[in-house]
Amino acid sequence: MPKKVKKPKKLKKKKDKLIKKKLIVKKKSKKVIKKQIKSKHKPVKVKMGGKYTPQVLRGMKDILPEEVKTWDYLLKKTTDLAEAYGFKKIMVPVLEEQMLFIKSTGLTSDIVEKQMYQFTDRSGTKVVMRPEFTPSIVRAYIEQGMFNLSQPVKLFCFGPLFRYERPQAGRYRQLHQFNLEILGSEKASIDAQIILFSQALFNTLGIQTAIQVNSLGCPECRKPYRSKLVSYFRLKQKWLCPDCQRRLKSNPLRILDCQNSGCKDLISQAPQLVDDLCPECQSHFVKVLEYLDEANVIYKLNPYLVRGLDYYTRTVFEIWPERPEVKEQKQKKEENEQEGEDKKEKEIIVAPGPQSALGGGGRYDTLVESLGGRPSPAIGVAYGLERIIQEIKIQKVKIPKTRGPQIFLAQIGEAACRRALKLFEDLRQQGIKVVENLGRDSLKAQMEMANKLGVKLTLILGQQEVLDKTIIIRDMHTGNQEVVDQGKIAKELKKRLA
Ligand code: AMP
Repeated sequence: MPKKVKKPKKLKKKKDKLIKKKLIVKKKSKKVIKKQIKSKHKPVKVKMGGKYTPQVLRGMKDILPEEVKTWDYLLKKTTDLAEAYGFKKIMVPVLEEQMLFIKSTGLTSDIVEKQMYQFTDRSGTKVVMRPEFTPSIVRAYIEQGMFNLSQPVKLFCFGPLFRYERPQAGRYRQLHQFNLEILGSEKASIDAQIILFSQALFNTLGIQTAIQVNSLGCPECRKPYRSKLVSYFRLKQKWLCPDCQRRLKSNPLRILDCQNSGCKDLISQAPQLVDDLCPECQSHFVKVLEYLDEANVIYKLNPYLVRGLDYYTRTVFEIWPERPEVKEQKQKKEENEQEGEDKKEKEIIVAPGPQSALGGGGRYDTLVESLGGRPSPAIGVAYGLERIIQEIKIQKVKIPKTRGPQIFLAQIGEAACRRALKLFEDLRQQGIKVVENLGRDSLKAQMEMANKLGVKLTLILGQQEVLDKTIIIRDMHTGNQEVVDQGKIAKELKKRLA
């Protein structure tokens, strides 16, 4: 019989840690598995007698019809633009294997460490409700053999994502993103195009933004930088927040992302990665900036922009809102500083930063390969739809009104209601948009609704009209009424609305 090999202590410790974090599953004995299968098939026991008040989960929200108008407008504008730039729509599942995110987003990222909605499904598979799109798109690119298509492959998608974060303004547990990916090219022109897209999108929407750009280099140039960063922060360790003290060991670059004011002061003096880029990464970054200048993209170099995910390489960028009042305040601040009026600084609003970023993205040149695909450099960006909607409100962006309904169909009495149901269907089939309220009997209430909607014409169907096979057309502006044959109504309406 082969001897059982004892696992080294260090490896066992690491494994226990992962089991504790619920990132890997402890091997179960046959007895435990049998018991689990048995319990899976047991019906759920719930006490049905108690009082229950349904309510939306914390960090999630209903989007009501009035607000959906803005969502539809935003999605239409974004989709049209993505298609104009040659992106094709892809749809991926909400549920994915847990391992996909561990291997891509990274064990030390906030998403994997603290935010994933994860559970074991009925077959025992560890699954995650997607917290971001890129890993799913990369999985689909590899699994569906998209490297056989003409490269680069340009894809866009949108939908809900799930992150168990502390809910606050602009931060939800169910959030929505519009996402773009370009896979299969490492050319700097691609980076510039995706940043140019971001500028074009916010210009189209009429939202003022400031684009922040940086390069994270490749794993090679990041090694010496990492050591420099560790040496710098080690000397200042006691002033770092507890999270950053931990990051100093696990992922020191993530310290640069910290929003704690104490850490921010230290970060502003920290060594910069752009000074340490290898010649290839430096040349790539210079090319990206040259392309951006050529395309008149306005950007700010931000040497401390790192983004929270492990897979980024080379170009990273974020889109921050630039609010008019903040601009004014910034100007005031500069003036005050010149005049030495320090106390006035307290009144100054802090410019919106990464916490209110409207979107962000970057290159991930090694991700496809690390997930088992052919080496395929790629870049992507994700825009937070809730944040954009919020910014539309803050910056008071005017959403063009869509043309409302032009015809209202009112009915009085049971027979007229029956006839109206069929008439509505006939008109709809002929391409005539009609609004009705078959749920109300009172003519007064129906006319009030027609007035509120601002329709041009109201069709009125009463007992007499049903018998005569006619219908009244009322011009809502002049108040004039005319009786028309029901058989000619479609033609008459088309004529009047032409
Ligand atoms: P990320 O996928 O973390 O790079 O985020 C991309 C964008 O999604 C951010 O710039 C935000 O606009 C938005 N976003 C990220 N997390 C949330 C959240 N919890 N709630 C709402 N929007 C978010």
